[in-house]
Amino acid sequence: MAEKLARLGLRTDADLLLHLPLRYEDETRITAIRDARPGVAAQFEVEVVSCEVAYRPRRQLIARARDATGELTLRFLNFYPSQQKALAPGARLRVFGETRGGFFGEEIIHPRFRVLHGEEPLPDRLTPVYPTTAGLGQPVLRKLIQRALHKADLADTLPDALRRRAATADFSESIRFLHQPPPDVSLADIEARSHPAWRRIAFDELLAQQLSLRRAYTARRSRGAPVLKATGKLTKKLLSSLPFQLTGAQQRVWREIIADLAQPHPMARLLQGDVGSGKTVVAALAMLQAVEAGHQAALMAPTEILAEQHYRKLAVWLEPLGIEVAWFAASVKKKVRDAWREKVSRGETPIAVGTHALIEDAVEFDKLGLAIVDEQHRFGVQQRLALKKKGDGARGAASSAPRPPVGGSEQDLRAWGAMSAHQLTMSATPIPRTLAMSYYADLDVSVLDELPPGRTPVVTKLVDEARRDQVIARVHDACREGRQAYWVCPLIEESEALQLKTAQETYERLTAELPDLRVGLVHGRLKADEKAAVMAAFVRNEIQLLVATTVIEVGVDVPNASLMVIEHAERFGLSQLHQLRGRVGRGRHDSACILLYAQPLGETARARLKIIFENSDGFEIARLDLHLRGPGEFIGKRQSGVPLLRFADLEDTQMVEEARSAAEILLRDYPQAAEAHLARWLAGKEELLKA
Ligand code: ADP
Ligand code: MG
Repeated sequence: MAEKLARLGLRTDADLLLHLPLRYEDETRITAIRDARPGVAAQFEVEVVSCEVAYRPRRQLIARARDATGELTLRFLNFYPSQQKALAPGARLRVFGETRGGFFGEEIIHPRFRVLHGEEPLPDRLTPVYPTTAGLGQPVLRKLIQRALHKADLADTLPDALRRRAATADFSESIRFLHQPPPDVSLADIEARSHPAWRRIAFDELLAQQLSLRRAYTARRSRGAPVLKATGKLTKKLLSSLPFQLTGAQQRVWREIIADLAQPHPMARLLQGDVGSGKTVVAALAMLQAVEAGHQAALMAPTEILAEQHYRKLAVWLEPLGIEVAWFAASVKKKVRDAWREKVSRGETPIAVGTHALIEDAVEFDKLGLAIVDEQHRFGVQQRLALKKKGDGARGAASSAPRPPVGGSEQDLRAWGAMSAHQLTMSATPIPRTLAMSYYADLDVSVLDELPPGRTPVVTKLVDEARRDQVIARVHDACREGRQAYWVCPLIEESEALQLKTAQETYERLTAELPDLRVGLVHGRLKADEKAAVMAAFVRNEIQLLVATTVIEVGVDVPNASLMVIEHAERFGLSQLHQLRGRVGRGRHDSACILLYAQPLGETARARLKIIFENSDGFEIARLDLHLRGPGEFIGKRQSGVPLLRFADLEDTQMVEEARSAAEILLRDYPQAAEAHLARWLAGKEELLKA
């Protein structure tokens, strides 16, 4: 039983209290058989007339029953002998279920029923139906929850002043109401979750999330981190060597980061910027700041293609300034990696770039001052936790703190041990504001909301697959004119093998159809060095048409590529399409993204294609995506470790904002109430929330 309950996340009484019904059944009244309406669930009180096992068309139990107004057939396709026994002629029953017109009049298939012994009063509350799991029946769950309602602490965790401010209903009233509503309420109201009782629960859930994340935020600010102040000599040099000027947004964000790095506690900042908004140079500047202040910096990216691109770019930018960049990835020979690791651990090489090989190689820093993660949402939860640990307790980070004074107080020692590196995460998947305010409330957020000048907007076209030939002609023209193109293979989520096969076939077909073009293929199953070789050839325009799976989705930057074709675009998610489209429009040339789709289109696929066709702003696309899919899917499978909000609606901006300000007030003025609230909502679940 405990195991089944755990499967539902039910460990404590508080969990049971917050396990709220999916819907309700009205067993408070009896419907006459004559008044039964097909498809509407109702309760009948009947007497069994007959009961027999029939064998045609298959074995089943059929009971006939009646009340003063008519007859009803009860049909069971699976049944226990005990049920057959209970349905003996003459037995009086209360039966609940949906009727339908059958061959012999009204019937119910698999009704819920209870034998009546003497007079039994009808319940005066609606019957809750809870989310459950195999082997855990409603009656058991109801009993457990009833018991929890009696013995658990239902005290309101919100102080009166706050409750009035947020105009929310009383907690215990709301909880009791939702578990056992009186029969006269509007079921439509509760089921639409617009009832004040639901709103109170939703508010509390958001509040718990805010409390947890804001508390983490405050805790971080009480830890120590190296103060990375610098004269700006190196950063000035880099800026003057660049062929462009920073955009206003880049300057603003850069100032925000400098200000954080100069603080004696660790930065935890999320840098959001649409594809192509120029996050890399901001990262480079931040790393230079760390180096100039006598520390090291690390940059980690989720794929080797992306990490290598960063590595090359940083090497080009920084090596002229006399700054060495170490490179860690699976394709780098072990011997070379070992040598890098040695130099990094001695502090001789100030900057390290890599994939998660950075973690796997257990690269130790002498004085890590700043850790940057690009496209952090692409890493799995486990990897992110590992990286966070590295930043939180890295030996390197610790040793960068001032040495503890000999015979120093215990407090000094503790501060020394708790020293952390500054952390910057970057994401090109814009997160809508309410989502950022809720799930990322433990971070500070910077936004690059301006694209560098001179970008040509990408023209998006929706083309029926039937016109594939025209698209091929277009690819041909673009490449003959010296441009380059991507051809993204259809996504086959169910099977990686099939995905691979399709990519191979697409490649062969396009090679045959475009014999005078140099066609290349890149997919996730290539070895890292093979992948790197293909990408390098594409960068040098030795490959004109690159057939690819979504491995190119993230960060690939080849300005001469001006055309992107995405096959079966209807299978891709919105943010994926947006990311893919962001691979073109990076140079001077007019760029286009052709979305090939196959008929017939489902409703959501159609809605997605319409959104991507009509919008180019990543934030707007993200907002519409959130609306289309809800936050669970939006945040994605990769973060499935995150306990998602069960009750709150993230499109309710006002409530998210209220919860946020209530959290601030609670933490400041009512710390005990904050603790009680967190205990009720998040006992044991907090770690995951912060992953
Ligand atoms: P993303 O934010 O998607 O990671 P990148 O950092 O890869 O974007 O930048 C995209 C391209 O824009 C790169 O080629 C980069 O050198 C260039 N770039 C960055 N900032 C500017 C700027 N201020 N003006 C012109 N080009 C820029
Ligand atoms: Mg990038």
